[in-house]
Amino acid sequence: MIKSQEHNASSTSSLINITGGCHCGAVRFSAQVPQDTVVLACNCSICAMTGFQHLIVKHQAFNLSQGEDKLSSYRFHTQQANHLFCSVCGIKSFYQPRSHPDCWSININCIDKQANINWTIEPFDGQNWQQAKGGLTHD
Ligand SMILES: [Zn+2]
Repeated sequence: MIKSQEHNASSTSSLINITGGCHCGAVRFSAQVPQDTVVLACNCSICAMTGFQHLIVKHQAFNLSQGEDKLSSYRFHTQQANHLFCSVCGIKSFYQPRSHPDCWSININCIDKQANINWTIEPFDGQNWQQAKGGLTHD
């Protein structure tokens, strides 16, 4: 299925359910995402270290099924992003990004392998955050 990436990819693709979580399994979530979606690869200081690749989902399309009590928070720089990681295994499977205040960002590497989604990786120049935020082609 060929679809234009010019417009918001999420508006033209059917929604599917995915599940995922941290390494030890304490933190588990589910989310509704477009089957054809964009994943942002960010080069900022923290994403470069952790290899985090962002699947952005609206808050209302995400459900934390377990592990809220296991989440620890880390903030730096502007303090706007809330980096949530499992206090048992240390994995940040999702967090509150600064770029999308009404969304969670799920680490594509933390979704369950059977998830039937097709993603396109799009670079996000987090080292030049203001400029990169302005260049986002979707919400
Ligand atoms: Zn864990």
